[in-house]
Amino acid sequence: MEIELRLLSEESRKAPDFDKLVFGKVFTPHMFIMEFSWERGWHSSRIVPFSNLELHPAAIVLHYAQTVFEGLKAYYGVDEKIRLFRPWDNAERLNRSAERLCMPTLDPEFVLKAIKTLVWIDREWIPKQKGAALYIRPFIIGTEGSLGVKPSHEYLFIIILCPVGAYYEEGFNPIKIYVTEEYVRAFPGGTGDVKAGGNYAASLKAQETAKKLGYTQILWLDGIERKYIEEVGTMNIFFVFKNEIVTPALTGSILPGITRDSVLKLAQFLGYNAVERRISIEEVIEGLKKGELTECFGTGTAAVISPVGKIYYRGKEHIINQGKTGPIAKKFFDYLTGLQYGELEDPFGWAITLEDLEI
Ligand SMILES: *Cc1c(COP(=O)(O)O)cnc(C)c1O
Repeated sequence: MEIELRLLSEESRKAPDFDKLVFGKVFTPHMFIMEFSWERGWHSSRIVPFSNLELHPAAIVLHYAQTVFEGLKAYYGVDEKIRLFRPWDNAERLNRSAERLCMPTLDPEFVLKAIKTLVWIDREWIPKQKGAALYIRPFIIGTEGSLGVKPSHEYLFIIILCPVGAYYEEGFNPIKIYVTEEYVRAFPGGTGDVKAGGNYAASLKAQETAKKLGYTQILWLDGIERKYIEEVGTMNIFFVFKNEIVTPALTGSILPGITRDSVLKLAQFLGYNAVERRISIEEVIEGLKKGELTECFGTGTAAVISPVGKIYYRGKEHIINQGKTGPIAKKFFDYLTGLQYGELEDPFGWAITLEDLEI
């Protein structure tokens, strides 16, 4: 399928000063949009000036949250090449999310073609300093105007782009996380393992509670026993014990992060003993008390690696590695960002330049 281009003039797409970027508030001049109807399938793909959408007030997405999304980044490398990190995995996950919500899937090759074309058109908007990047947000929404609860017959697939600043301008800043036993994010059979908008709506209340108490993110426990660790806010989580690096196994209610998978594979490559298994909050607290748990960090596209310095659980605050970033978190961070910015040789074939993305 061809992508129709309706672009702004060169002068009207000047990039701003990238010094003070608040995440997700600044958008590039263009967006990609494509429509779906039962009769025609996916059609009318185009790149147009960034603008508001016109939606039927009864659009299914507005009432019943039929929406899924992805998040990845384009990085400006030290060799001046633009790279994407494992973008095929995002395209595949978008389809898994879409299927779970009874939405039409997309040809992954076409998704990548749309991303590549849009990023290239707005390439001036990719910040050049290390750590900064262009955040790419593809999403699908059910747009049919109908208050009946059923899958929409009409959809939009849209891609928007945001320049984002370096997450760690003043070095790593370990976060404080709050273990909630009151709220749960997901449960077996639910939608916790796909990137559905509704998961986030359901998590806001707990997130706000944590924020009020001075914590950055919620650490979610499993939805049944409220005992086993699942993930943190928008990240997967890892614990470093004396003899192993542990992340919760994907039991169906955890989002299978691409950064999580990259850390697991990288750990193996670097010779660490990295395992996926169930891990209870009690085991974590015990590990901290005995001094056997030395590091904890979150993984996700936004921050890559986010060290955790404090955990609040049942009225007590537990300090990890004296609230500082540990060497293993630092090592993964340096390695992954090294690949993303083209500083390191990539033995995995994860960081792909736009020109090498053959579609
Ligand atoms: C997107 C997301 C992650 C991280 O996934 P990455 O592919 O590593 O960016 C983790 N947890 C949740 C709930 C998410 O939505």
